[in-house]
Amino acid sequence: MTKYYAEPFKIKMVEPIKILTKEERIEKIKNANYNVFSLDSDDVYIDLLTDSGTGAMSANQWAGIMVGDEAYSGSRSYKNLMISAKDIFGYEYFQPVHQGRAAEKVVMPIFLKEGKVAISNMHFDTTRAHVELAGARAIDCVIKEALDTVNYHPFKGNMDNERLEKLIQEYGAENVGMIIITVTNNSAGGQPVSMENIKQTSEIAKKYDIPVCIDAARYAENAYFIKMREEGFADKSIKDIAKEMFSYADVFTMSAKKDAIINMGGLIGVKNDKDLYETVKARTIPYEGFVSYGGLSGRDIEAMAIGLQEGTDFDYLQYRIGQMEYLAGKLDEAGIAYQSPVGGHAVFLDAKHLLPHIPYYEFPAQALAIELYIEAGIRSCDIGSYMMGNDPDTGEQIESEFEFTRLAVPRRVYTQSHLDVIVEALKAIKERRDSLKGYRITWEPKVLRHFTSKLEPIK
Ligand SMILES: *Cc1c(COP(=O)(O)O)cnc(C)c1O
Repeated sequence: MTKYYAEPFKIKMVEPIKILTKEERIEKIKNANYNVFSLDSDDVYIDLLTDSGTGAMSANQWAGIMVGDEAYSGSRSYKNLMISAKDIFGYEYFQPVHQGRAAEKVVMPIFLKEGKVAISNMHFDTTRAHVELAGARAIDCVIKEALDTVNYHPFKGNMDNERLEKLIQEYGAENVGMIIITVTNNSAGGQPVSMENIKQTSEIAKKYDIPVCIDAARYAENAYFIKMREEGFADKSIKDIAKEMFSYADVFTMSAKKDAIINMGGLIGVKNDKDLYETVKARTIPYEGFVSYGGLSGRDIEAMAIGLQEGTDFDYLQYRIGQMEYLAGKLDEAGIAYQSPVGGHAVFLDAKHLLPHIPYYEFPAQALAIELYIEAGIRSCDIGSYMMGNDPDTGEQIESEFEFTRLAVPRRVYTQSHLDVIVEALKAIKERRDSLKGYRITWEPKVLRHFTSKLEPIK
């Protein structure tokens, strides 16, 4: 039995959610052309589409919203954000922006241009997009253990530092514009990166004089994993661990919609390079607005200042990551495979394992996502061949290495009972898995098809 760490909060305000009948859900998903992105959120019972911007703010954050200072310049909320961010990251300079990709838009072109490459443990999709928009190329360099969904490794998000050094020599140090460490490694399933690994990457970067950027969306969840799994950190505070992590980088870009538990916001941090900070400011003003608000309202900045701190609370993180571990434990008991060990913000169900009779070109992970909706009104999404799309050269369906159905868990939103509903739904699906059919696409756009394409079940 996996322990459930009870919520370290009580509930003052509730948001009703609707439970449709199974017949209604069958109708709704058909009308949505079997695309979960086309469902109305009102027709979803438990929404696990993403953990981004979907968290619940605290009473303190809502109070902060009321006292947020909307002054164009010299705002008190901006000052509070500077104090809060410095306390956690230890950097000299910070720039708020409207979300993570805005931070990338401001920062990436400073370091990257045509002919350069960025090397990362794994680029998140918007990060990759901004590397490419700057004219550069993005290279992923995660350890090979990340691709093994079964065997245990405490830090599957790690950079393959041996390969990193080879890549630097291959491309020439002068052509590597930056090294990006994504914590936790989102695309590898929210897998953490160890302190030792970050330190090693930083040493290699120093040796070749390449700047290091942390993609910091899940800074607190990564620090929690270091505390729990890495030798020498058990007695350190989450904030001390975070400070050490960031000490090995020069700059960070952050989506505050994740660990900072706000619905919209982002942040850039510059360790101590005054010239770099001036460039960041100069690029922020035309894109995002004046330095003291960066595309956000003063109230959002106030909520970010508070959320950054709340995200580092140990009891909260134990409950938060505990939810994933609880889900994983229940799946183990039920014999349902997932990427193991679970990461910090999501459980990636192994649809290939559950539905071996559905081939990749009939989208097993999408079939499972649809079935979860029909069974219990749970919205998840495909991270597999359906999302991969077609080879741009041949037009043929690419076979993804994995067929994952992702259950991303919003912060402070769902309770243990909701998690039990998810497990019961999966057990019921497992019982009748042989009857599940694959899907075919009847219409698709040229790029990013998973958001809008239309599907039908194969008879
Ligand atoms: C969400 C995310 C981003 C992009 O942030 P947005 O706020 O969605 O623009 C970048 N990197 C990582 C690792 C993320 O998880």
